[in-house]
Amino acid sequence: MNNEEFRRYGHDFIDWVADYFEQVEEYPVCSTVKPGEIKSALPAKPPVGGEPMKNIFADFQEIIMPGITHWQHPGWFAYFPANNSPASVLAELLTAGLGAQCMIWQTSPAATELEEVVMQWLGKMIGLPENISGVIQDTASTATLCALLTAREKATGFNSNRSGARLPLCVYASEEGHSSIDKAVKIAGYGIESLRHIPTDHNFALSAEELEKAIAEDKSRGLIPACVIGTLGTTSSAAVDPLAEIGEICRRHDLWFHVDAAYGGTAALLDEKRKVLEGAEMFDSFVFNPHKWMLTNFDCSAYFVKDEELLIRTFEIHPEYLKTGRDEEVKNYRDWGVQLGRRFRALKLWFVIRSYGVKGLQEIVREHLRLAGLFKEWVEEDSRFALLAPVNFSLVCFRLTKEGASEEELARLNAALLEKVNATGEVFMTHTSLKGRYAIRMAIGQRTTTEKHVRRAWDLISQSALTL
Ligand SMILES: *Cc1c(COP(=O)(O)O)cnc(C)c1O
Repeated sequence: MNNEEFRRYGHDFIDWVADYFEQVEEYPVCSTVKPGEIKSALPAKPPVGGEPMKNIFADFQEIIMPGITHWQHPGWFAYFPANNSPASVLAELLTAGLGAQCMIWQTSPAATELEEVVMQWLGKMIGLPENISGVIQDTASTATLCALLTAREKATGFNSNRSGARLPLCVYASEEGHSSIDKAVKIAGYGIESLRHIPTDHNFALSAEELEKAIAEDKSRGLIPACVIGTLGTTSSAAVDPLAEIGEICRRHDLWFHVDAAYGGTAALLDEKRKVLEGAEMFDSFVFNPHKWMLTNFDCSAYFVKDEELLIRTFEIHPEYLKTGRDEEVKNYRDWGVQLGRRFRALKLWFVIRSYGVKGLQEIVREHLRLAGLFKEWVEEDSRFALLAPVNFSLVCFRLTKEGASEEELARLNAALLEKVNATGEVFMTHTSLKGRYAIRMAIGQRTTTEKHVRRAWDLISQSALTL
């Protein structure tokens, strides 16, 4: 492809994306293809000669598009959002065009220094303490892995890096903690048997009392507590663990305190929600995902640490071929996580924050919270339905009830309701289980979702429930 052609298709593709933004609502939210359908439409062998872009793009539209699930659809209420924005998409285009690999300062000084600055902005925007350091990771899963690796090194005096993990270390998280914690505990060498799933209270928040008990028990058995992970906005129901109490326990026992705020952290943009961070200032590490609910397209996960020295000591490497004369003066983010090569992710975050302004972002998040409040009221006002968890942010967990029905019957009934509503293609919701109870999750957070879409979702639910 020559540059002229690139220019022409570039313009066409931007038009295509702009049209997509306008028309995304016309697609069924969730792709309806069957397993294997896309694969069977693709040739088994790659082309030997180059093909014209016209053909490639035609296949993109005909073969690929039907297999896309539309996360940017305003009827997206599944999982958590992964919203994007025009500013973010344009920044990603520039990032791709530059094609810079930003592993160290020298390989693009602007990438490193912009990352430092936007991470400081972000920390201030959600009210984190001063004097913290930030780094962008690909996902919250990776950030939590980094936290557990740093906690492991701290607890073993940096001996695990040297001679392998040998000490019987323990990790604590609520039973509602994200599955990425289990994964990280396994791959960081703690062993999954060392993870304590601490029971939760009636609000699905970790019980500090149970945490204290578990730590004491492990200590009495000669085990070594190393890390507690508190969640601000659990994945099932957006519960908030008692961070201040957990922080206090961590301080008393000298444990690493990691806060997983992957989804909920965005709410701290709002002064009126800032109180959810109470106690989070005691964290050793903190993660939240601008790629979930802050208009920055996937991937962009903000990882903050109190003591960057511990993080760097855990990850640093000094091969001769990466040495530069500047290493004393600058940050080399290759030493701040697992990967060596790094994408220029700070650019899209910078574009998003500048394009919307703090106020613009706050307004969008505030509106999502208002819509969740409305939806919650509709659930409460309809005696056929029950709310299953407190609505702390923009997630509502509820279900259809039925006099005298068993848990299994209710699960079947609500799964049928969910399937019926999703089959309309107008909305997409998912489910979870809360202390054994099947719950439908209504997660509001798509950039273009308005009251009309939330109202439509409720109408679909409430009408479908009549005919089950
Ligand atoms: C979504 C989520 C994660 C995982 O996020 P990734 O960035 O996809 O790894 C972790 N923790 C919580 C609480 C989440 O909601």
